[in-house]
Amino acid sequence: MAVLDQLTSQQAIDLENKYGAHNYHPLPVVLNRGEGVYVWDVEGKKYYDFLSAYSAVNQGHCHPKIVNAMVQQAQTLTLTSRAFHNDVLGKYEKFACEFFGFDKLLPMNTGAEAVETALKLCRKWAYEVKGIDENNAEIIVCENNFHGRTTTIISFSNDPIARKNFGPYTKGFIKIEYDNLTALEEALKNNPNVAGFLVEPIQGEAGVYVPSDDYLVKAKALCEAHNVLFIADEVQTGIARTGRLLATCGNCSCENKNCDNTPDVKPDVLILGKAISGGVYPVSAVLANDAVMQVIKPGNHGSTFGGNPVAAAVAMAALEVVQDENLAENAFTLGELFRKELNKYIETSGIVKLVRGKGLLNAIVINDDEGSNKAWDICLALKENGLLAKPTHGNIIRFAPPLVMTEEQLLDCVSIIIKTLKSFED
Ligand SMILES: *Cc1c(COP(=O)(O)O)cnc(C)c1O
Repeated sequence: MAVLDQLTSQQAIDLENKYGAHNYHPLPVVLNRGEGVYVWDVEGKKYYDFLSAYSAVNQGHCHPKIVNAMVQQAQTLTLTSRAFHNDVLGKYEKFACEFFGFDKLLPMNTGAEAVETALKLCRKWAYEVKGIDENNAEIIVCENNFHGRTTTIISFSNDPIARKNFGPYTKGFIKIEYDNLTALEEALKNNPNVAGFLVEPIQGEAGVYVPSDDYLVKAKALCEAHNVLFIADEVQTGIARTGRLLATCGNCSCENKNCDNTPDVKPDVLILGKAISGGVYPVSAVLANDAVMQVIKPGNHGSTFGGNPVAAAVAMAALEVVQDENLAENAFTLGELFRKELNKYIETSGIVKLVRGKGLLNAIVINDDEGSNKAWDICLALKENGLLAKPTHGNIIRFAPPLVMTEEQLLDCVSIIIKTLKSFED
């Protein structure tokens, strides 16, 4: 087979199976083109993308403004490392700090790196500002969290598949139940070594668990009372996904009039990734105010590619698209419609237990055992019917389309989903 020959789906899958490590279990579909809310497979079949690369492609596939920013910058200057300055990074840092309402930004590439950065920042702040004795800092995390795949991050995961046989694990983490303020208060009480509380505003990977309306605001108040940093991992929930610019939305420049009535919370440390680049380039960031970020000094932390001019240009364009195209507002409106339409169906059927979510980060829970294959089989059938989604944790299917979707497209998707679910009714 010549390198330039168009592969069939099966050939492409066979190649990955033979030469690629088996660290994923993809749906059997091979894509070679994307535009807006659509992707096409190598045989030319068109699909609605209802995953958006785990909420990285919020702005839609191959958004021309973002791609253009990348091409322009790639033809001019791609990488200097941070040994030298480049003329895009500062502009991007100013833009993003004003956009999200923070003093400073630390640029990295992937979500996991940004989480690692936030943990290091929190520990250093604990020793140098809060005054915890060296090596004693503890960070509170939540059960069923997902924060990435590094050795330290999986050390405080409780997913056996992500953890087993990767030890020894990093110490210094306390795990509590999600959406449980009493558990947080207990963990903070009488423990002067707690430095931070790391939390997802909605647990995406775990199955789109939305906490009580007052959870984040009260958790932040508890952290403040104990001089503990409130660290929000908005890698998946951020950048308009949940119907507001950030799920915490604290003091950002969001002008979404429809914003739901969850109280705003301003994290001490904000972690962003995924859609901060619209899915065209790996970009992540940690934002904080000076009182925290000042503990980082030259040589303490870094990354060869972090803050490179292509990443900076791409991220600025991607954030502008979110604002120019009112993606937060669109996600809010379409999310309400999506849950309303699915709830109508759920009332009449036994196949789906419930739909939950915020904005366009939603999930349905299939009425079956955790261990059954039904969610996977439904995703295969959805694919046949022209819509791509993936199960997360057994019997849960996550629905997260690009936020550039129109109402007409969304209703089309709802009818595909309901038609498919109906075919599984007994
Ligand atoms: C995806 C994700 C990460 C990890 O991001 P990577 O870019 O895959 O390293 C971290 N936190 C949350 C909440 C995520 O959804």
